[in-house]
Amino acid sequence: MMIIMRAQATKAQVDVVIKKVKDHGLQPHLSAGSERTVIGAIGDIREIHQDHFAVLPGVDRVMPISPPYKLASREFHPQDSSFPLNGVQVKRGGVLLIAGPCAVESRTQILETAQAVKEAGAHVLRGGAFKPRTSPYSFQGLQEEGLRYLAEARELTGLPVVTEVLSPEAVPIVAHYGDVLQIGARNMQNYPLLHAVGQCDCPVLLKRGMMASIEELLLAAEHILSQGNDKVMLCERGIRTFGKETRYTADINALPVLKSLTHLPILFDPSHSTGHWEYVPSVALAGIAAGADGLLVEVHTHPGEALSDGQQSLKPERFQELVYRVARMSRALGRTIAEHGEEGT
Ligand code: PEP
Ligand code: MN
Repeated sequence: MMIIMRAQATKAQVDVVIKKVKDHGLQPHLSAGSERTVIGAIGDIREIHQDHFAVLPGVDRVMPISPPYKLASREFHPQDSSFPLNGVQVKRGGVLLIAGPCAVESRTQILETAQAVKEAGAHVLRGGAFKPRTSPYSFQGLQEEGLRYLAEARELTGLPVVTEVLSPEAVPIVAHYGDVLQIGARNMQNYPLLHAVGQCDCPVLLKRGMMASIEELLLAAEHILSQGNDKVMLCERGIRTFGKETRYTADINALPVLKSLTHLPILFDPSHSTGHWEYVPSVALAGIAAGADGLLVEVHTHPGEALSDGQQSLKPERFQELVYRVARMSRALGRTIAEHGEEGT
């Protein structure tokens, strides 16, 4: 339930509403906008009459029919979310470029790739040290050794690092080395993991499950937000359909839909969406055109030798060409790619 105060409501009137929310055993969540204050009442509202709140002085209206995800919803939080990440502002309307290999395979590989993607214009380095593989016989990642190489790559290039975390127990160590915790598609509904990342201070990149609805994605984000971590970005990475020609199907529709439903930044992953490097640039541009606030792209210096996802990885020179095209398209759309070290607003 959301209680929307009148534009002229006084602080005393807001305080009375907050007290009443608490008296009903609900948790108040205040969102003070530039024009008016919205008070979210979080908890079980099934037994509560909205009239108890609607009659209070200063209340404009009460909206009982709200999406099940409150903190993630644009209704509750009309302003776009934004947060800084090592000198680059993650924000709606920005074009954040995250690139790197699927997995950290060796020190040389990640250091070389980090330098290459930085030169090409990436803002953030990606690379998995803990890999969620469909087969238990596939490469599972270098684990802590991989995290150390990622930290070294950050030292070398200055690029912040996004890397996946697979279990609640691993959150402290991954957060120690990484700058952004990635929750992969296979773990989108791993609620203890969502709670664990929600309780830390590190930004989170939450990928949509390959069979998850948009509402389920937003509810997964709600789990993180409800624990106090508001630095969350979402990532559309392709959903499962019946076509065999691509690994998944890029749900381009999800981008404008998510942008209207939530205030969180929305990224797009053209690599997993397609599964083939040849299709990655076209689909990446489609994602930007549809409003994605950034891209997550797999880049490998020797895709033919990659231990995971080589087929969908761009060589650095192809990534550089993609960045050039993304920049040109963004300009045409009236959007700009942040320069390194530029905080933006
Ligand atoms: C990845 O980013 O390498 C990855 C495993 O992605 P997803 O969780 O979307 O499959
Ligand atoms: Mn991958």
